Amino acid sequence: MKTAIIKGYAKINLHLDVTGIMENGFHAVNNIMQSVSLCDTVTLKERLDGVITVDCNIDKVPKNESNLAYRAARLFCERTGVCIGADIYIEKHIPMAAGLAGGSADAAATLKGMNELCAYPLSEDELCAIGGELGSDIPFCIVGGAAFADEKGDVLHPFPKMPDCTIVIACGGEGVSTPLAYRMLDDKYDRFCSYTPADTLALRKAAECGDIANIAKNTFNIFEQPVLSVRPVAAAIKQAMINGGAIRAMMSGSGPSVFGIFIDEHTAVEAARLISALGVTPHICKPN
Ligand code: ATP
Repeated sequence: MKTAIIKGYAKINLHLDVTGIMENGFHAVNNIMQSVSLCDTVTLKERLDGVITVDCNIDKVPKNESNLAYRAARLFCERTGVCIGADIYIEKHIPMAAGLAGGSADAAATLKGMNELCAYPLSEDELCAIGGELGSDIPFCIVGGAAFADEKGDVLHPFPKMPDCTIVIACGGEGVSTPLAYRMLDDKYDRFCSYTPADTLALRKAAECGDIANIAKNTFNIFEQPVLSVRPVAAAIKQAMINGGAIRAMMSGSGPSVFGIFIDEHTAVEAARLISALGVTPHICKPN
């Protein structure tokens, strides 16, 4: 029986803003994402009976049909017409419900793994189309690197990859559900009737030049202020990153994880110590 072992990488948001509310009720976003080396490892063992199972090293992760990896494998079979099954094992390192797209990373890895087990019937674009049916971050998790996404967050445009630096990520407790986070924004910005989105030009120019200081300076997340105001641990992590020498610390997605950008690894390791003292686990990683 064939086996595929695929890494599913977390993402951070270098820029996350809402540009309005679309006719279908979804919030339209400007979303600049960068994948990082913090990852889950997804192992798929082929089964000839068509059955799909999911297991994981973390208790809280659902092991049933609600797991995004399960749903991705099933949708792959439906769309391609192949009827193989798979035992899927997720070795999870990406904090859950943290704004790091962990479930999406697992779904992306599963789609790639199913494609590998079936001798690559689908192109990357076709895998992205299937992924997009399940979640707006999945196409980005399939492609990786950096990208600018607009509309619902699933329409991807090229964006220059972040230059080498060290990134420390830590999750500040329990997440705020994405619908609740959007409700907080709707209240704060009066359903975006007269909101002017933040500019992305300075960030793009810095990324084109590989200018890490200006990339860091121009990061933005519209969710940060409202979510950090109700997640004190995440706010404390942000402060510890800054005290520890990060050139910038910013919440990722709708939180509550926070990432710090460091020029040198030594400073990042020292900052990680300060974060550990808060009782949370820091992850030291790189853009990839
Ligand atoms: P995003 O950044 O895309 O909003 P997230 O990082 O905030 O995602 P996830 O880690 O993907 O959040 O988890 C969100 C919820 O999805 C979890 O509470 C969990 O119940 C469910 N879930 C389904 N499949 C998975 C999976 N493979 N890994 C983690 N959570 C999963």
